[in-house]
Amino acid sequence: MEYFPLFMNLRQAPCLIVGGGEVALRKVRLLRAAGAELTVLSPVLCRELAELAAAGAVRHLAAEFVPDTVGGQRLVIAATDDRAVNRAVSDAAKAANIPVNVVDDPELSTWISPAIVDRSPLLIAVSTGGSVPVLGRLVRARLESLIPAGFGRLAGFGARFRDRVKARFADVEQRRAFWESVLEGPVADAVVAGSDDVAEQMMEQRLAEPDAPSGAVYLVGAGPGNPDLLTFRALRLMQQADVVLYDNLVAPALLELVRRDAERIFVGKQRANHALPQEDINALMLRLAQEGKRVLRLKGGDPFTFGRGGEEIEKLAEHGIPFEVVPGITSASGAAAYAGIPLTHRDYAQSVTFVTGHKQDGTIQLDWPALTRPHQTVVVYMGVSTASELCAAFVEHGKPSDTPAAVVEWATTERQRTVVGTLETLPALIGEHGIASPALIIVGEVVALAGRLGWFRRIENPTVTI
Ligand code: SAH
Repeated sequence: MEYFPLFMNLRQAPCLIVGGGEVALRKVRLLRAAGAELTVLSPVLCRELAELAAAGAVRHLAAEFVPDTVGGQRLVIAATDDRAVNRAVSDAAKAANIPVNVVDDPELSTWISPAIVDRSPLLIAVSTGGSVPVLGRLVRARLESLIPAGFGRLAGFGARFRDRVKARFADVEQRRAFWESVLEGPVADAVVAGSDDVAEQMMEQRLAEPDAPSGAVYLVGAGPGNPDLLTFRALRLMQQADVVLYDNLVAPALLELVRRDAERIFVGKQRANHALPQEDINALMLRLAQEGKRVLRLKGGDPFTFGRGGEEIEKLAEHGIPFEVVPGITSASGAAAYAGIPLTHRDYAQSVTFVTGHKQDGTIQLDWPALTRPHQTVVVYMGVSTASELCAAFVEHGKPSDTPAAVVEWATTERQRTVVGTLETLPALIGEHGIASPALIIVGEVVALAGRLGWFRRIENPTVTI
């Protein structure tokens, strides 16, 4: 170990920063966050530092550095761009046995500053011992994405219950197990989600009945299929779940990101071929949660957009099972971005409407007068098998038959195909190219931009123009 890691209490401690530029400013901000009493020594200050000095937040010594200045300081930082000055600061501090850091110069430093992830009171410091600072910053970026923003509040929440938990469980092992289940379960999720009152109630219950099952359901949007389009929240929950319920819209590449030893249950739902009726899925989720499992219901796209997400959690709400809904990128957004079809556009479309082409009682029930008005984009989910009727209905209700129309199959994935035509030609093109579900139909002038703006995989017939 090249350096010894430690966290130092600097509340009200006198600290000296030599230098008055941007680098010094960064250090001043950090040390101020730690509550230090700062002196900044520099003949001139940058604007922000001058403002801080004027406001009395730091003491300013407008002078050249002399060794005596380090006297009485707890910590010294040299942040000038003059190595001779930095060396003088370093020598003076070392002679007085005061820890000194020269920014980006480990050779002149007795301590170095780590890259930090600040979720105070949780604080993570990463260091490469000064050898490859960029690597430390990369690690830090990864940690930033792994640790929810609300984690600091979780530490505060835990602290409030510390004494009571200690009194409740005399045995250290039991206490550890209790805290683990709290910090990895629905209580922690509620704190991170900002619902402290709910979390407190659950915590009271857990303290009263520590062995009662504490399951929860997470209804999570997995996005249109490309794993890069998952949210951080979705990924974290995928790595914590005990059971995962998924269907055919969830790409295999996404399932691979689920915790390895989680149970996977296929509840495959296709329009015409329900592997499990909706009621059974709802009942299954309820039962698993009642058994105390953390149930992840992974849905394609966004759970609240043609996903029956509302129905799936209604029963849970009725039974008082904690649940959380995590939005996902809906396939219309995914398809539009990856096919180069802006859904709105100042010149061509002032609104966008999402509808389903799915038949109810044998007919497509849509508000045609509204959908055929000019200057809008219409995106049809679940519409490939009814494409001929859909396109015909648009024209019957007054939309010009040469209105650009596209179908995007397996949007955002390796298998994405985009076929561009018009309301008149699209149904035949769909047959010709063998396009099948999952696919979206997009109708409107903006579709004609795909030829120019499409950047991901190939586009068939990009000849339609505006
Ligand atoms: N909740 C989902 C929609 C579920 S309905 C969402 O927000 O996207 C199922 C329909 O979504 C499919 O019939 C298809 O029209 C569309 N869909 C889902 N994923 C898709 C994809 N990767 N490419 C194209 N269409 C997709």
